[in-house]
Amino acid sequence: MMLPALPFNPSHVLIGGAWRKTRDTLTLINPSDGDTLCEIARGDDADIDAAVTAAQSALDGAWGKMTALERGRCLTRLGQLVLENVEILTRLETLDVGKPVTQARADAIALARYCEFYGGAADKVHGETIPYLDGYTVYTMREPHGVTGHIVPWNYPMQIIGRSVGGALAMGNACVLKPAEDACLTALMFAHLAKEAGFPDGALNVVPGLGTEAGAALARHPRVQHLSFTGSVQTGKIIQTLAAENVVPVTLELGGKSPQLVFEDADLDEALPFLVNAGLQNAGQTCSAASRILIQRSVYETVASRMAEIYRAKTIGPASSDPDIGPLISTKQKTRFKALLQTACDLPCIAETPIPDDLPVNGAYVQPRLFGPVPPDHSLAQDELFGPVQVLIPFDSEDEAIQIANGTIYGLVAGVWTASGARQMRLAKKLKSGQVFINNYGAGGGVELPFGGIGKSGHGREKGFEALYGFSTLKTVAAKHG
Ligand code: ADP
Repeated sequence: MMLPALPFNPSHVLIGGAWRKTRDTLTLINPSDGDTLCEIARGDDADIDAAVTAAQSALDGAWGKMTALERGRCLTRLGQLVLENVEILTRLETLDVGKPVTQARADAIALARYCEFYGGAADKVHGETIPYLDGYTVYTMREPHGVTGHIVPWNYPMQIIGRSVGGALAMGNACVLKPAEDACLTALMFAHLAKEAGFPDGALNVVPGLGTEAGAALARHPRVQHLSFTGSVQTGKIIQTLAAENVVPVTLELGGKSPQLVFEDADLDEALPFLVNAGLQNAGQTCSAASRILIQRSVYETVASRMAEIYRAKTIGPASSDPDIGPLISTKQKTRFKALLQTACDLPCIAETPIPDDLPVNGAYVQPRLFGPVPPDHSLAQDELFGPVQVLIPFDSEDEAIQIANGTIYGLVAGVWTASGARQMRLAKKLKSGQVFINNYGAGGGVELPFGGIGKSGHGREKGFEALYGFSTLKTVAAKHG
């Protein structure tokens, strides 16, 4: 499958408003068939340093002088351009990530929405005045950190760029974006559109490359004032350690083992599609994937057999054929996922999605599987698999459900399905999680909703208005005037 004609060279980086070559390149693979898509830049220390310098120049120049209103207008124009280019962005994500067309299109639309939301919010963040001693006036001001680094993964490039870079630009930071080596085409297209939208040179710089090279260079760069990272716990720890050397704040979103709690009084017709989709969307490669389904014992058999039916009816195929489930991002991920799944050989598998005979042999496909009943402390119910697998766990009482739900190292998103208003309120309080969805499951969706975790799911919040506090720093001014 060929790349469409692009208005930029995919093997270049964007630094200070100019597209340029890097010393070396990497090969980008289409995970649906294993074919080579193109060469991409392999940014190194020097490229990252040039990008940080360009970002600082933008802050010292045109970008730093823009009013909040003007920054908001740039973002709003960018949102409009993203909307006008939804189809090309969708196509790029389909080829690059192996994301089925409908899911890729939803991400492109979400990217536009982030630009619109943060475009509108840019001039609505303000400080406050504080009553103080007689003869003083005290007030606070929200200011940009300066140069912000954004290290994003390959699973939802557009959404994560939108929430991270969108919020940072709204607050007047100048950004250096390091997309994932497995998927960077939509990041480059976004940078091209940002130039068209009128962002001054250097406000947004994009340097693809390897995590251990460009990523690490960005995380340890002494002139980066804030880092935001979405990815694995392992890499998050490395980034936080590098940031600690420079004493800069970090926002980390590191995944989870998100539970959905299904009580016997739940509306199952309403719940069932959410229960499955929240696990299989993007082939399970979602930080907030609902990978654990906790079911009250009295409805366990019903829920299990109805979920099994849905699993059997799902479709698998190349992303461009718009199946329910596409390939994983790479054969490397497939190997990793299969190794983790080895631990499941002692568990009852109650449904599999049928694999069609004509799948491209070099695609990174894996078979979606539903396991149950699974002991809550089994590794399949504890570890993040990042693939299309869900486990069913029966429970008897509300207390037991809460204990199981809170019984992992993570705490990103939880779902609660029950008709009881009192139980809804109790669980919203007791679940250890950054988000709780009641009788719905956003799977991380919702541009307006603050998102982030506790425990090993990370810290800091992106999305919504809350993110703007993280992407800015607060200055207190105390004036004594008598
Ligand atoms: P995965 O292993 O699934 O790709 P990661 O969490 O390692 O997930 O990757 C998420 C992002 O972090 C990617 O952009 C990747 O290049 C980057 N990355 C990986 N390792 C490092 C590192 N040591 N320092 C900085 N960034 C890294």
